[in-house]
Amino acid sequence: MTVRTRFAPSPTGYLHIGGVRTALFNWLFARQHGGQFILRIDDTDVARNVDEALQPILDGLQWLGIDWDEGPGVGGPHAPYFQSQRADRHRSAADTLLASGHAYRDYATPEELDEERKAAQAAGKPFLYSRRFAAFDDATATRFEAEGRKGVVRLKMPREGSLVIDDAVRGRVEFAWEREQDHVIQRADGSCLYHLASVVDDHDLAITHVIRAEEHLSNTPRQAFIALSLGYELPAYAHLPLVAEPGSRTKLSKRKLAQYLKNQDFRRVMEHGQAIAARIGLAADADTFNPVIVDFYRAVGYLPWAIDNYLALLGWSYDDKTEFFSRPELVEKFSLGRINSSPASFDPKKLWAVQDHYMTSLSTDEKLGLMLPYLQKAGLVADPPGPEQREIVRRVIEASGDRLKVAGDILAYADFFLVDEPEMDPEAVAKRLATPTARPHLKAFAARLATVEPFEPGPIEEALKATAEAAGAKVGDLVHPIRVAITGRGVGPGLYDCLAILGREQSLVRISRALPHCG
Ligand code: GLU
Repeated sequence: MTVRTRFAPSPTGYLHIGGVRTALFNWLFARQHGGQFILRIDDTDVARNVDEALQPILDGLQWLGIDWDEGPGVGGPHAPYFQSQRADRHRSAADTLLASGHAYRDYATPEELDEERKAAQAAGKPFLYSRRFAAFDDATATRFEAEGRKGVVRLKMPREGSLVIDDAVRGRVEFAWEREQDHVIQRADGSCLYHLASVVDDHDLAITHVIRAEEHLSNTPRQAFIALSLGYELPAYAHLPLVAEPGSRTKLSKRKLAQYLKNQDFRRVMEHGQAIAARIGLAADADTFNPVIVDFYRAVGYLPWAIDNYLALLGWSYDDKTEFFSRPELVEKFSLGRINSSPASFDPKKLWAVQDHYMTSLSTDEKLGLMLPYLQKAGLVADPPGPEQREIVRRVIEASGDRLKVAGDILAYADFFLVDEPEMDPEAVAKRLATPTARPHLKAFAARLATVEPFEPGPIEEALKATAEAAGAKVGDLVHPIRVAITGRGVGPGLYDCLAILGREQSLVRISRALPHCG
């Protein structure tokens, strides 16, 4: 048997990180077994423009390296991969279920159903439709239609016994049939509903493993009933634990951003992202720029594998201690059996730590490739960058070491090297330059800087130390005002590196320009 898994998103206009976790687990399982991973688009009942609402999902998956063997853009032997284009198959399955007696035409009005529901409620009983307006033969159907009633098709669910499935995550799960409603599978206008469509599509696409979010567990009995009634073999099921809010067991939701921002770690990630977005002129509205969706991380410059690796740990673990996996390692080590069934809380701090790990492990050239586009978007370097600019950025990256956590961080570390006159941060100026000693320190250091040879971090450091000693001051008394003088702010790469990168001439110009700010 060839393993075939699928990710079946609705085109919603964004890729939720919980959705990515589902996609990733399906992808890993398929890759591990040398099988196929299929992307199917569940666009039944989608009123909005499907292409537009689908693009962010396709782009997000591609960016994350979750590639699909069949689906939009790549086609495949089971095309089409859009649910809405498979409507004929869904209708013919509804006909089959009617013919075999597993479904019936029902002519009850919504009001009549509501009455029954209320009566059951009043009697304190679970509601089960009486099938009073069911038509099990054509004559009854004709009679109801003559009354002007409109018929839908409902499943004729069993009312005794139970269904047992062996879920790969949750183990044995039993569903009592009496708790299942006669769900509608086809509307009066002939269009079919989601549950029928999903089962037929999974079968037609030869899906062997349905790996999906826990919220679909309750759909499983009705879907299994449809599948079994159509004579299909049931797929294996694996229902993944919820991706929950930070510090809670409730499902993570894009709409609850305001609430999540009360969480300090979440807020930090958001504010850090917003600062980057502001510099590259990216509209940061909550609909698109939200740490619950993948676009946020992509925009800010996280590494796709850091996201994948972090999400793999949301509900799954290899041995309770290994945290970092290369792609082939994860494909090899992943297993459905080690997925935990309790909700997995999204932890922005942990994601940050995983990102940090992978960012630190990149070479300067790799970082350069990722970071230059941010500087280009901010208009700080040309596109393509000139060799001199490139060299400056490379040296900044080297000098910044592991302080650059995401690609967009380069903006705050390199900008003052790439403009003639950096903006002066008023707070840093007040704290470091507007002091009685700043002016003499700057002047004395400038005098030494004029002759330092070679103009490199080591000799520059010597010069600064000698200046401090001659003035009877501490090194820190000089480092802080000089940093503000040449960068405009209080933090950044190491000072000696900054001076070396800027060069003698620019360093001296900036120091003399800072003198009027001194106290
Ligand atoms: N389109 C469904 C969803 O987005 C897929 C459900 C399933 O995986 O069966 O939740």
